[in-house]
Amino acid sequence: MLGRDHALSGAFAFAVLGPTLHVTGSHLAAGVLLTAGAGVLPDIDHPDSTIARSFGFLTESFAWFVARISGGHRHGTHSLAGIAVFSIGALAAGAYQLSGARVGAHVGGAVGGAVGGAVGGHAAFSWHMVPAGLYLALLYSAALRALQIGGHHGDLLGIGGAVITCYTGWDLFRLTVGHWHIPLLALATAVGCAAHIAGDELTHGGCPIFWPFSEHEFHLLPGPLQFTTAKICETWVIFPLLTGGLVLAVWHATGHPL
Ligand SMILES: [Zn+2]
Repeated sequence: MLGRDHALSGAFAFAVLGPTLHVTGSHLAAGVLLTAGAGVLPDIDHPDSTIARSFGFLTESFAWFVARISGGHRHGTHSLAGIAVFSIGALAAGAYQLSGARVGAHVGGAVGGAVGGAVGGHAAFSWHMVPAGLYLALLYSAALRALQIGGHHGDLLGIGGAVITCYTGWDLFRLTVGHWHIPLLALATAVGCAAHIAGDELTHGGCPIFWPFSEHEFHLLPGPLQFTTAKICETWVIFPLLTGGLVLAVWHATGHPL
């Protein structure tokens, strides 16, 4: 599947979940864009992918490294283990950011509540924001690049979006899933990666979701219905369906009846 369609499928999945998660406004907007970025994240195992080209040499080298440790393209990052690693990374970055906010709130002595420190009006720069900030910048830039928004300035927009998200603490906003309260960034990561893997499982390639225990490639469709990346079916069926679905899902998630 093309990066564009992976990004659309991630955004679509988050927008569909929006009403169930009771997420609205700026959190919905950040969630949709972050999930679009997470929708291309598993392809960080290929130096020529959309996300690997986000920050040039830096992300291309990182992609080369990821490919070495994850068994090559469409292996570790396209498995349940890959979803877990990316999501735990997002959780860890958020926890570290929050620990900095707590220190800030303590020193400031004025703001109560855990996230309050991050969201509080006196949010100042803290090194604790850096891992989450880098992760946010990568996801935003990858989403904008995949969706061809912003052209050459997409990366700058992505970095700007990451700074705003860090300072407002939107990425730490907790969404209720069953008995759990999961930070926006971690949930967007999990949903986006799952959408990516589901997308690749519609193609002839399939995904080894139980890697490293099994190399067996799983498909969601029977052989005759599987399609080839970037061919007629993806361009004229998948892309229009995803675009239309995303528009409807966002319309519904922003409080409009279907
Ligand atoms: Zn892929």
